[in-house]
Amino acid sequence: MVDLAARLEEVDERIADAARAAGRDPSGLTRIVVTKFHPAALVEQLYALGVRDVGENRQQEFSRKAAEVGDLAGLRWHFIGQAQTNKARAVRAAAGVVHSLDRTRLADALDAAAEPGEPVLDVLLQVNLTDDPGRGGVAPAELEPLAAHAAALPTLRVRGVMAVAPLDEAPAAAFERLHGYAQTVRAVVPGADWISAGMTADFAEAIAAGATHLRIGSAITGPRPERG
Ligand SMILES: *Cc1c(COP(=O)(O)O)cnc(C)c1O
Repeated sequence: MVDLAARLEEVDERIADAARAAGRDPSGLTRIVVTKFHPAALVEQLYALGVRDVGENRQQEFSRKAAEVGDLAGLRWHFIGQAQTNKARAVRAAAGVVHSLDRTRLADALDAAAEPGEPVLDVLLQVNLTDDPGRGGVAPAELEPLAAHAAALPTLRVRGVMAVAPLDEAPAAAFERLHGYAQTVRAVVPGADWISAGMTADFAEAIAAGATHLRIGSAITGPRPERG
């Protein structure tokens, strides 16, 4: 817990430094702690340290952990992984924000999964910054129609874009493209000004390129345990 608090503080300082270096106000950034592979107890420890935004990338692990942690006032779960359409209800039930909307069928499934009276679900459109379709995310050429499709669904609110930096390219250049894709989405959905980008290795570059939501795992949680 002492180590966790120290790592959290150190990362927050680095975030603030990167924001100031980019002429940005650190308070405009949301730092999401990615807790995948770690037990629910880690989420509770983070919560006790003031963390209110946590991220998970596997639906089953996410649903189990969210149920284990239960209701903690103000805690927001971000789903950042690939989602299957037949798991849309489970994702929707536990997530406050879905970062990984990458196809119209998933948008339809998430919309159809809304229970009566359930709040509107915040979604980000995940963009593939590589040429490899296996890496997840919508191809940039399909982004505008996806934005228009999702924006028309009554129970989803398109908030912006999300991406993971390619392995074989400098992150700064890739995040610069993402910034342009964010503008593509804003032309369709004017209020969609979130950019989810930046992980342990590249959050400073993401901040310089306008990221609003950082998804940081191992720099805060320590190394991920082996999956048992
Ligand atoms: C695991 C993961 C992260 C966090 O990765 P770290 O390198 O541990 O910071 C961010 N985004 C996604 C989509 C992830 O799967």
